[in-house]
Amino acid sequence: MDFLFDVYQQGKINEARQQAERASHKADRFADDIRSLERRLDRLTIVNQALWELLRDSGHLTEEGLLAKVAEIDLRDGSKDGKITRMVKVCPRCGRNSNSKRLECLYCGDSLPDPNLFDAR
Ligand SMILES: [Zn+2]
Repeated sequence: MDFLFDVYQQGKINEARQQAERASHKADRFADDIRSLERRLDRLTIVNQALWELLRDSGHLTEEGLLAKVAEIDLRDGSKDGKITRMVKVCPRCGRNSNSKRLECLYCGDSLPDPNLFDAR
């Protein structure tokens, strides 16, 4: 009886070891993804800073103007939270509301406008 119990327990231990190994690999992949996203974010931040400095130095825009525009865009979804929330799209042909993820109107099939230039499709 003890032998059967030991075999059963060893099976459970092996199963737990395999689960831990899979979880460890998964965590490593997520860590790689995060490092990749951080590098991309750093690059985008640098490019944004460069663009801003070029615009500012051209003499047409001010830091106050930039901050006011950031606040205006942030508030477009009704909440000043530092995020852009997808909004309902209004069909230009039939005037009905559609989910912001849709490319075409659910009712008439017309193309829906994209209010945010940087939304991924
Ligand atoms: Zn429509």
